[in-house]
Amino acid sequence: MQIADYLSEKKIPIPSDYNKRKRGTKSLTYGLWQQSTIRFILSNEIYTGTVIQGKRKKVSFKSKKFINLPEEDWVKVENMHEAIISKEDFEKVKKVIKSTKGSRVVQNDYLFKGLLRCYDCGGYIGIRSPDKNGNIYGRCQRYGRFGKFDVCSPHNFNYQVFEEQILKVLREVCKEYTDMKKLEEIAKQSKSKQSEKFNIKKQIDSFKETIEKETRKLEVMYDDRLAGIITLDEYMKNANRIKETVKGYEQNIKELEQEISGEEDKTKDENRLDNLIEEFLSMEKPSKEIIREFIEKIEIHSDKQVDVYFNFKPLQELNNNFSVAKKKYEIKSA
Ligand SMILES: [Zn+2]
Repeated sequence: MQIADYLSEKKIPIPSDYNKRKRGTKSLTYGLWQQSTIRFILSNEIYTGTVIQGKRKKVSFKSKKFINLPEEDWVKVENMHEAIISKEDFEKVKKVIKSTKGSRVVQNDYLFKGLLRCYDCGGYIGIRSPDKNGNIYGRCQRYGRFGKFDVCSPHNFNYQVFEEQILKVLREVCKEYTDMKKLEEIAKQSKSKQSEKFNIKKQIDSFKETIEKETRKLEVMYDDRLAGIITLDEYMKNANRIKETVKGYEQNIKELEQEISGEEDKTKDENRLDNLIEEFLSMEKPSKEIIREFIEKIEIHSDKQVDVYFNFKPLQELNNNFSVAKKKYEIKSA
């Protein structure tokens, strides 16, 4: 991180900017160096002048798929170009990187971890370890990392208060959904939907019957033609007309069948949501998995306003009404 910040302060262009300049594109930005870029450079042997080939190979000459080969099969050619890192330094750094690997403290697993985004910069909201008073705070990760270079703003908030309030909101939205569904069912008694489906099926059957009738007509006409009762010209004209009619009916059937199966998909989705809500409402402490099923993401504004995005359309619609009426959620904390 220190190396990255040193380069950022010195306004050394990051690789993508450097490439732009080389290609002649005028780039006035310098960008901010990421730790991962430094790590990549420090662990990439190409900077020592060595060229590595044959890391991957095609599965077969017909296939476009590649497989990765083990390191001992790579072809390494040293001193292919000017080195910017000496071999000794490279090996030293390799050891340092190896020794720090895995020494990071394991992060706590919070219920909403990974779902929180900064509304302003689109980056992740990081959840920090408890402070000495046991308080847990969320903060924009980009601000945390690059705030000193004027990137974004803190978006600080008390995570515990947030979690409690969002769970309450989630519960309210779920309850509202179940209430709404109950009302809907009483109103419709879901009979009309059933009868609608029944009517479509009946329609399909009648179309099928018509097709059969038309096909039989064609057979009779064929016999008539063989017996010389009608001319070839008459036969062809009528046969074509019948074939067109049959095609039309077949198309109608296809469309109706799609309509029914679309309805069935919708009910499947609804059933999944119903089960999920039932499970969620029965849980005292919901699991991370179930939260992920419900929520796509949560955006945090700098004034602590919170926008919740649901994975299910009906919940999202309810939530929209909800948040408009209540002027969006806010993390109220003491
Ligand atoms: Zn941010």
